[in-house]
Amino acid sequence: MSKRTGELIVLSGPSGVGKSTVIAELLGSRRDIHFSVSFTTRQPRTGEADGVNYNFVSREEFERMIAADELLEYAEYVGNYYGTSLKVIREQLEQGIDVLLDIEVQGAAKVKERCPEAVLIFLIPPSIEELSRRLHRRNTDAEEVIGRRLQKAREECRESVHYDYLVVNDTVVSAAGEILSILEAERCRTVKRLHLTQSIVGG
Ligand code: 5GP
Repeated sequence: MSKRTGELIVLSGPSGVGKSTVIAELLGSRRDIHFSVSFTTRQPRTGEADGVNYNFVSREEFERMIAADELLEYAEYVGNYYGTSLKVIREQLEQGIDVLLDIEVQGAAKVKERCPEAVLIFLIPPSIEELSRRLHRRNTDAEEVIGRRLQKAREECRESVHYDYLVVNDTVVSAAGEILSILEAERCRTVKRLHLTQSIVGG
């Protein structure tokens, strides 16, 4: 019986939608999912650790990785590079491990192009008003910065039509629950279970 390859799961959503909290909830109940630690040129924020939240690298190192074709995808987002290591992802998928990427919309489009079987999930807020409330609640950004984030959120949400699934982050538990159901259904796709029929139908 051939071993199944891992599922490549891409999660995107606008700033402030609560992606990290949903991911934490998800990884808490599916400990077999590996969270892909991206490479970035941005500075670590307070509480972030190298190799845990991101692999923090210089712009020179990132550009070397691009030139050496070491990245599955990368994008420039608000003045910094963000990218996913091709080698790490490939090794894990081949071992049958499911891998979760938290990446923005341009990167997600590149992943879909290179790996059409990837499952793309977009997380949206219940409403733009609720997103605005969450952005006000979570930080000390000036009104003008929040305004820009909301505008960017509108643009990003427009890209959600290119995703396979749309999940509303109404409550963390319900959003994570919906994502778990999506992953369960994806696992049952006939094309991914052909090996199960072989011993029955022969050949
Ligand atoms: P932050 O700086 O807030 O951690 O992340 C900014 C944005 O970059 C988020 O939308 C996040 O999903 C995205 N991001 C994080 N890692 C990657 C990556 O490896 N590739 C791409 N394309 N986007 C990423």
